[in-house]
Amino acid sequence: MFKQARWDEPLIFELGGRGRVSFTLPEAIEDIDVQIPEELKRGSLELPELSEPEVVKHYTRLSEMNYGVDSGIYPLGSCTMKYNPKINEELAGHPKVTYVHPYQDERTVQGALQVMWELEQWLKEVTGMDRFTLQPAAGANGEFTGVMIIRAYHLDRGDTKRDEIIVPDSAHGTNPASAAMAGFKVIEIPSNEQGMVDLEALRSAVSERTAGLMLTNPNTLGIFEEDILEIAKIVHDAGGLLYYDGANLNGILGKVRPGDMGFDVVHINLHKTFSTPHGGGGPGAGPVGVKDFLKDYLPVPVVEYDGEKYYLNYDLPKSIGKVKEFYGNFGVLVKALTYLKIMGRQGLKEASEIAVLNANYLGKKLKGTKGYELPHKELRKHEVVFSAEPMKRDTGVKALDVAKRLLDHGLHAPTIYFPLIVHEALMIEPTEGVTKEELDAYVDALKRISEEAYSNPELVKSAPHNTAVRRVDDVLATKRPVITWRMYRKLKEKGDIDI
Ligand SMILES: *Cc1c(COP(=O)(O)O)cnc(C)c1O
Repeated sequence: MFKQARWDEPLIFELGGRGRVSFTLPEAIEDIDVQIPEELKRGSLELPELSEPEVVKHYTRLSEMNYGVDSGIYPLGSCTMKYNPKINEELAGHPKVTYVHPYQDERTVQGALQVMWELEQWLKEVTGMDRFTLQPAAGANGEFTGVMIIRAYHLDRGDTKRDEIIVPDSAHGTNPASAAMAGFKVIEIPSNEQGMVDLEALRSAVSERTAGLMLTNPNTLGIFEEDILEIAKIVHDAGGLLYYDGANLNGILGKVRPGDMGFDVVHINLHKTFSTPHGGGGPGAGPVGVKDFLKDYLPVPVVEYDGEKYYLNYDLPKSIGKVKEFYGNFGVLVKALTYLKIMGRQGLKEASEIAVLNANYLGKKLKGTKGYELPHKELRKHEVVFSAEPMKRDTGVKALDVAKRLLDHGLHAPTIYFPLIVHEALMIEPTEGVTKEELDAYVDALKRISEEAYSNPELVKSAPHNTAVRRVDDVLATKRPVITWRMYRKLKEKGDIDI
């Protein structure tokens, strides 16, 4: 019988036996070993000795304990865990890409510079901005870059009193964090009944101290800020700039552009909208786009093209400097350009349409299920945020328990407890890459969990029951992280740990 891999699988150090080998070194290498003087050799590496089939089976079993974008639906709201076409990986992993060195002479890396230049043209077109830096390594790094540009702009004009950044209460946590890191005071404004920026609150928040407003649109509730032109006018009239958190553009590709909505600075997460797997926190890219009047403040270098050759331009005297070494995470840039070129204008538009359709289909189907509530406006873009507050009130089952119970159904949980303005939030973003059957199965699972919560709440509260790892103690895991097998073994021997 097939045995499901579990957390107490033997470690690779506990497998194998003396003398088992997976490969033999060519004699030439063994000769080198003989030639190395004894005093320069390290001690024994204590590596396990295993045959190739043992190694293959071990790692295959470990991989079965995990869940990834290629396993099934992965509807992490805000984070766009979308389908990542395999050709992206093939191109990013091509030796011509992986062996490029950042110190190479420009003449020898024309192709790499062309990739960056072409990607910038695409991003300009998609967002309606005039120039981009591809340097930031992630969304938060992009936000910091953008906010530093806003700061440099005001200071450069001698406008030294602007020390406040306004952020709505639905914002991603990185927004206030980035603004604070750049030295600004963060002014939070509330959302209205509809889940949008409260215009009156914005009007009373702006002043001669306003450096800018950071906004996500569609916002993190998946709701399009339909007053965006009015919002832009209020901020601009007060002398501030508009920053667009474009971490997730999945709802608007080919439909509307932040540049046309009045935004002056934009960051994009290539590792969300433009397909790079980022579940394990792998490398990302958070390019920042600006309107023409801000281009001199971009980090150096920017990539230029003179009609014949591509080159790196370091000559931006007003530049805020570098925000990451070299030119950004190049592999992620290659994946994004591959994705953009393969999708094309029409493909991107269709991806957005289907992403929006899927989120609304799921929202409509789940709406009215006991225990879940859909606050704010009904029509959503790419994601829909339910509240499990009624379920918690009636049964004691929380959003966290629902998320854990979904794992028992073999489904990945949505984002939970974000945005903060929705209590017991379940933030679901199915993306364009799932079928109707998958959406139906997800809704069915959430409905079953609702029934369970009302009939047998303990079952849900103690979930998951049939995953490789049961519910972990998050607090203990943070306070006393056990991160190596030696630590684990020691605690286990002392009886200090009960997993
Ligand atoms: C993911 C996300 C960010 C931050 O991006 P990172 O790459 O994780 O730093 C910012 N804003 C929103 C809305 C996001 O979803």
